[in-house]
Amino acid sequence: MRAIILSVLGFTIVGAAEAGNPPPGNDIVAVRIYNYAKVSDSAISRAAAFAKRVLALAGVDSEWVIQGKGGVEKNPAETGRRNLVMRIIPNRMIVQWATEPYQLGYSLISPETGTGYIGGVHYERIRDCASVWNVDRTLILGIVLAHEAGHLLLGAGSHSAHGIMSAPLEFEHIKLASHGSLHFTENQAKTIRDSLKNNHLRDLQLAQR
Ligand SMILES: [Zn+2]
Repeated sequence: MRAIILSVLGFTIVGAAEAGNPPPGNDIVAVRIYNYAKVSDSAISRAAAFAKRVLALAGVDSEWVIQGKGGVEKNPAETGRRNLVMRIIPNRMIVQWATEPYQLGYSLISPETGTGYIGGVHYERIRDCASVWNVDRTLILGIVLAHEAGHLLLGAGSHSAHGIMSAPLEFEHIKLASHGSLHFTENQAKTIRDSLKNNHLRDLQLAQR
């Protein structure tokens, strides 16, 4: 996700609307967060709660677990659930990457399969954006976590004109998010649910062999 700085406005962040319970029968998405940027656990928890709500509003249950600072990363394919890895990384870890300064996150999608499990967010860029826009940095962190998780769950080519998968990130999106109104589109939500259902069925078939 990239950001466009359009305007600088101050406003109060309000809590996002509480999400309803996802329908039963869906596979749970487990997201392990690896914090290399020394962000406080409480800030990550608030951001992860935002991302969890965005997924819940799409009917997708998820759990977001902080693995500690620079913890050993586990093999994402080690269980039957859909396991994602999200890295919160500082600039010093990406000095060799010639990415744009407003590139706020990334997701690694296989060109062969169109799927992936590993994403991340550039924390200092998020912090700088929050400072320019004068908004809560955990809100932008939450938006980018949800957006990159969306890429991993939707596969390649998953940007859209509206909603959480919009790109680049603009101030309008922050305003929507602050009111709990930055979501996956209905089509995106259905695509994620269907892909998780298929994933779940495949796991069951493999377990029965
Ligand atoms: Zn994107």
